[in-house]
Amino acid sequence: MEVTEGAVTVDVSEQSGEAIEDAVFFNPEQELNRDLTVAALRAYREREPRAETYLDAMAASGIRGVRAANDGWTATLVDRDPDAVALAEANLARNDCEGDVRHDDANAVLWDPQRAFDVVDLDPFGTPAPFLDAAFANTRDLVCVTATDTAPLCGAHLKSGIRKYQTVPRNTEYHAEVGVRVLLSAMARSAARFDVGITPVLTHATRHYVRTYVDLTHAASAANDAVDALGHVHHCPECLWRTHEYGLRADRPDACPNCDGTNLLTAGPLWLEATREDAFLERVRGQLSDDMATKETADGLLTDLREELDTPTHYDQHKLYGRWGEPAVGMDEFLGALRDAGHAASRTHYGGTTFKTDADVAEIRDVAP
Ligand code: SAM
Repeated sequence: MEVTEGAVTVDVSEQSGEAIEDAVFFNPEQELNRDLTVAALRAYREREPRAETYLDAMAASGIRGVRAANDGWTATLVDRDPDAVALAEANLARNDCEGDVRHDDANAVLWDPQRAFDVVDLDPFGTPAPFLDAAFANTRDLVCVTATDTAPLCGAHLKSGIRKYQTVPRNTEYHAEVGVRVLLSAMARSAARFDVGITPVLTHATRHYVRTYVDLTHAASAANDAVDALGHVHHCPECLWRTHEYGLRADRPDACPNCDGTNLLTAGPLWLEATREDAFLERVRGQLSDDMATKETADGLLTDLREELDTPTHYDQHKLYGRWGEPAVGMDEFLGALRDAGHAASRTHYGGTTFKTDADVAEIRDVAP
């Protein structure tokens, strides 16, 4: 099967029928993720012109690495599946692109200091956790990660989340937000082992995956700053009140100050600070090109991210009104009421009726139409 994405055309395996188990993986639904990857790589190189080498550490058909190579990156494509390696080689050749394709384990390549890369991209099946330490051991500039294990990340599979990310996720109505902040917390702690600090420049939770791009600073002080960005969220499942506190120690209140409920949940350590840099988002927007089929969606997503407040949790307007036993109102009217009362308020890129505000749940109740 032939697929054209951006400026390249590649062969991919049929993803249906009896041969599916042996097929090299390809997911057409990740086109937005890949278009944004190409734009983010262009944006990054515009900012750091010396960045040259890109590792597609889980290449499958090679579509991501081929697109990077076609854009002028010195690309290395790795997969442990020999069929994937053959397909990735053929796809590079088919697009007249240079690139090094290796049949190897991603961790073996990443741990080798002789082969350090400027940019490393992890796109495994499910969790990226087994690759994080290796990714931060030697990478110079930027680490890009896709995680598709949303159930462990957001706390729906609590024990799995604890095992994989060495943090406590909690299943709340802001589950995608918990997933983003659990992943970034694990990444900050992995990077800190190597005296590397992370700065997330672009992060989105779309459909069933989280994607993040973190800029690296090789200094113990930067690693300390990243660890200082971690902390805990305390959440009341009765009235949806929540608060957050910085630090690796969690001091959970005995009872919810809003409803006196005593079943408070604590999640963390989570990444509590910004998950993107606005200037970088604008650079990425400027690098979306007309040959990208998802250009309009990607542009809309970047706008949503830009407008979103940095607060580490969001509310779901319908859940709140449900708790209050009242019918919900339109989002514009609702956000307008919060802003008129002097609170910061925004929609979120998670969509639907989710919003962020600096008002607490009692203040929201007071001003809600
Ligand atoms: N990046 C691809 C894309 O955009 O279409 C999709 C990658 S697919 C989700 C995951 C790939 O990682 C599979 O081809 C699998 O063989 C490979 N893989 C899984 N574990 C690996 C490992 N430890 N080392 C190298 N490759 C691995």
